[in-house]
Amino acid sequence: MAGIVLENVSKDFVGPHGRTVPAIRSLNLAVASGELLAVVGPSGCGKTTLLRLIAGLETPSAGRIQMDDRDLAGVPPAARGVGFVFQSGALYPHLSAFENLALGLRLRRVARAEIETRVREVSALLGLAPVLGRRPGELSGGERQRVALGRALINRPRVLLLDEPLAALDAPLRAQLRREIARVHRELGGLWLHVTHDQAEALSLGDRVAVLCAGALQQVAPPRELYEQPANVFVAGFIGSPPMNLIPGTLTSRDGQWQFAAAEGRPGRPWTLPGTLATRWADRGGRTITLGLRPEHVVLGSAGAESAGETLNALVELVEPLGADGACLHLDAEGCRLVAQVTCVTAVRPGERITVTLRLDRAHAFDGATGQAL
Ligand code: ATP
Repeated sequence: MAGIVLENVSKDFVGPHGRTVPAIRSLNLAVASGELLAVVGPSGCGKTTLLRLIAGLETPSAGRIQMDDRDLAGVPPAARGVGFVFQSGALYPHLSAFENLALGLRLRRVARAEIETRVREVSALLGLAPVLGRRPGELSGGERQRVALGRALINRPRVLLLDEPLAALDAPLRAQLRREIARVHRELGGLWLHVTHDQAEALSLGDRVAVLCAGALQQVAPPRELYEQPANVFVAGFIGSPPMNLIPGTLTSRDGQWQFAAAEGRPGRPWTLPGTLATRWADRGGRTITLGLRPEHVVLGSAGAESAGETLNALVELVEPLGADGACLHLDAEGCRLVAQVTCVTAVRPGERITVTLRLDRAHAFDGATGQAL
């Protein structure tokens, strides 16, 4: 296919005392040309290693990487048509923004007039025209990262790899540059891999998002699918803020009804599951599962007679305001620790006792042993 395909790619490093460090484990991934794939995962999960393998800066220990149906084994980095943007920008401090942008073309002996044209084009695209004469030390963090992006784009790479390019910026600037990256990708096209540890950034930028944990690919899906149908308990807990409530417990059947008994909850007070879920999960009867419930599905007040839900008494332990998104309530709900995200909080104070309803019709379930979604 046109794009990048990784087949069973693994990368082991040799760590201290000769110990093997598996950075990437049997990874299968296909990224289409024109796609912006966000790669997200916690620190040390192998994100940078994945990019370095594609760039040719590391060699796979096993498996193969293809670009446009061509095996990349033995193809040196410079011949891969891949651009790289680093977290730090890695600009030359003694060169102006113009010269930093132009350097790669100069080294490749591109004609002066062509260099001039391409620098003007890329600086217009990234709003850099007013600062072209300045050195990196005289640029803001955001301008420096735009120069770093421009320096990669000016070579017109077939594939652009961005390794946490926004990590060093403050929150408003990060959000602004995130929008610019999305716009530039829309305008230029091309296959981009954008690495971040920030799930919100990944969800807002990626056409699809790949979630990595401990070197293993957990799920690749469009942002909405990842949020609504997490493949396993890791993705469920990592994607979404505030994170999904993950409640270990047991599925049991009583009087023809399926129930969930939370391990931490009040004994003898299991939650009744709506019929639709019960049929999906019924073969897990008597087994340990993890029930997942997004904070927005823990709602204030009692369930109406017609709606599916379990009503619990809860002690409000902490109220975390979330600005326009309302607030996050940390609750002790009959012995079960839960987080609720609510839009109306005027009346809720820490120490108060409230009633909440668990929208169990929106619950997820994961196998207690494997963590896979049921
Ligand atoms: P971060 O978000 O912190 O940058 P990451 O997800 O990019 O992390 P990698 O830098 O790819 O993770 O590292 C993956 C694993 O491989 C880590 O355990 C790391 O310590 C290890 N590792 C990476 N490079 C080397 C190396 N050259 N030698 C030994 N171990 C390495």
